Amino acid sequence: MIRQQHMKIVSQQEIAKRIFELTVEGDLVNDMMAPGQFVHIRVADSYEPLLRRPISVASYDKEKQQFTMIYRAEGRGTNLLAEKSPAMASMYWVRLATAFRSKKLRKKLI
Ligand SMILES: Cc1cc2nc3c(=O)[nH]c(=O)nc-3n(C[C@H](O)[C@H](O)[C@H](O)COP(=O)(O)OP(=O)(O)OC[C@H]3O[C@@H](n4cnc5c(N)ncnc54)[C@H](O)[C@@H]3O)c2cc1C
Repeated sequence: MIRQQHMKIVSQQEIAKRIFELTVEGDLVNDMMAPGQFVHIRVADSYEPLLRRPISVASYDKEKQQFTMIYRAEGRGTNLLAEKSPAMASMYWVRLATAFRSKKLRKKLI
């Protein structure tokens, strides 16, 4: 399932050199339920950079309707993201679950 939503940025802080903790708010959090899920973030309201950047969901709080990501500002996209303060950003949320659903693979791993 792919769902897109504009998220409100609640807080953003640099917790270590070039490492940022970003908390956003929106009802997309209701679809979060498993480790390994990530969001695709559109970091600017323009065609540049064109591609969305995948960042993992570090934690979520359904009561507050918020979730948190931790990322390293490395290239163009994440540096643009690091400049954002509480404002609006748009994201795609994508499930990762299918990557680990193969029964065949599970048998080999156990
Ligand atoms: C499913 C998934 C989940 C992810 N979750 C996270 C996450 O929770 N936190 C996080 O910090 N990153 C995460 N990443 C990596 C993140 O998506 C990339 O760091 C980001 O897309 C880089 O975009 P950019 O525009 O900043 O860099 P680009 O301009 O695309 O890359 C610039 C240069 O930096 C290098 N680079 C980019 N990112 C990294 C990195 N993290 N480490 C070392 N070299 C790098 C590239 O190889 C390239 O040479 C995840 C990636 C995937 C596929």
